[in-house]
Amino acid sequence: MPLLGSLSGKISQNESQPVGQDAFTAGDEEHTLRAPDVVSSDEVRAGFFSRCSNPNCATGWIHLLRRRTVPIFEDGWTCSQNCTQKRMEQAVRREMEGRNRETRLYQHRIPLGLVMLEQQWIDAGQLRRAIEAQRRAGEGRIGRWLVQQEGVSEALVARALGLQWSCPVVSLPFHDGVAMAPALPRLFVDAFGALPLRVSSERLLYLGFEDRPDPVVAFAMERILKMRVEAVLVPDSEFRQAHTRILTVPFPRVELLEVSSEAQLGRALSRVVEKVKPVQSRLVRLHDFLWLRMWRKPVSTLLHDAESMEDVICALNQE
Ligand SMILES: [Zn+2]
Repeated sequence: MPLLGSLSGKISQNESQPVGQDAFTAGDEEHTLRAPDVVSSDEVRAGFFSRCSNPNCATGWIHLLRRRTVPIFEDGWTCSQNCTQKRMEQAVRREMEGRNRETRLYQHRIPLGLVMLEQQWIDAGQLRRAIEAQRRAGEGRIGRWLVQQEGVSEALVARALGLQWSCPVVSLPFHDGVAMAPALPRLFVDAFGALPLRVSSERLLYLGFEDRPDPVVAFAMERILKMRVEAVLVPDSEFRQAHTRILTVPFPRVELLEVSSEAQLGRALSRVVEKVKPVQSRLVRLHDFLWLRMWRKPVSTLLHDAESMEDVICALNQE
């Protein structure tokens, strides 16, 4: 049998095996995230090297002989800069799809004051005075006015917010900002008022918000981190303290990418991936941003290692 035939046979056999690999599963990275350094005919074994993940790759098997084991983008190895770009362009199209169809959530919530009135946690006089104070000051949320001016407890306001958004309220006696910083770029922690709280043993990450949960942020994190992310509310002062503190700890390195057109996005992002050569990387859109997360080495746990990760954030034009 000619060599080419034998190689292709092995490759397609290999292809039938599941290719998706979780970046955080310890143990198997050596085999699944690496192509071999040298491939000779007797070293070709199923499961031992990757095939280019660009479905339209035209370079063929000969490129497997090249010394190239990275980058990996969304669980797939690409054989060349061109193939990386093709895959990235496709991922960008996927993320941009439906962007203009997105509707605002949160339009029909019962106002917080009414929730509290209904529960008889405040009376009509307290609510009226808090609304008046808010109007005069021209700022501040109603919950905060109820606490500051009417002496309503913060815990009660948090409970009401939980009812309003149908979302758990979590108290935060201790928060490890250094450990949680790798979960989300600093820019998003800041801009969206999101606070990664902790990871529970069942690979569940709690993401805290102060007054309204943002499911878009939580969903983007689920897709990047490959773990369940549950949005919860944290009482006001506990949230603010931990949120202020986490903004001072080290986060993964971030590059802000500026492109003038959507068409350039794929090329620009693939250039970064080709430069960093990550062992894993993923792309998601999060509101008006694209977020590319890259891991420079295999990691067995999500947290504690801001240095092995790198982010690229690209602000999309407002439409
Ligand atoms: Zn290729």
